[in-house]
Amino acid sequence: MYIVSIDEELCSGCNACTAGCPARLLKFNGEKTEVAGEATECMGCESCITVCPTGAVTIQEL
Ligand code: SF4
Ligand code: SF4
Repeated sequence: MYIVSIDEELCSGCNACTAGCPARLLKFNGEKTEVAGEATECMGCESCITVCPTGAVTIQEL
């Protein structure tokens, strides 16, 4: 099981990560991207980490 979090301070709001999330967990709110829904629904695919230019996304394996 994985849990994803986004550091608000680091997120630049580029919206690069949202479309590629297979769990549809990442939502752009107009300024930043947030984890919408249960963070533990993260599938650990690392797509968001790969595309994030600021290192704002963290995934932890539980
Ligand atoms: S690791 Fe994959 S499933 Fe998890 S939040 Fe990122 S894109 Fe979505
Ligand atoms: S890719 Fe990174 S900087 Fe861009 S919206 Fe997602 S978390 Fe924020």
